Amino acid sequence: MKIALVAHDKKKESMVNFTIAYQDTFKKYDLVSTGTTGKKIQEATGLKLTRFNSGPLGGDQQVGAEIAQNKVDLVIFLRDPLTAQPHEPDILALLRLCDVYKIPVATNIATAEILLRAMERGEFHWREIIPKYE
Ligand code: PGA
Repeated sequence: MKIALVAHDKKKESMVNFTIAYQDTFKKYDLVSTGTTGKKIQEATGLKLTRFNSGPLGGDQQVGAEIAQNKVDLVIFLRDPLTAQPHEPDILALLRLCDVYKIPVATNIATAEILLRAMERGEFHWREIIPKYE
């Protein structure tokens, strides 16, 4: 199972606190992230993850490419709804791909928590149940 982690600047602190809180869960999975988000998570938790470019330099597209190759099982993308992002088209493209591939995606911390707790309970067998490309 692979989890992708992305957070906009004003949400990075929430992401770091979240990964600290659920470190034991995250440890069990492959993790990928955009550049700066991943750096902050690594510094705070020591979790191993594959870091792509920073968002504005194509990181969201790189996460999207992983999704398009059907390699991602869950996306946590803490978005800042109040600040215009220069790479908004890339962000929308990433979220669109989550819908194409039926990947659960949390765009705020409340949903992220619910999804992580479901994973802790082993409730994440949707990938076997949902046909992948329908
Ligand atoms: P960052 O990218 O982790 O490199 O800041 C995230 C984003 O802005 O989409």
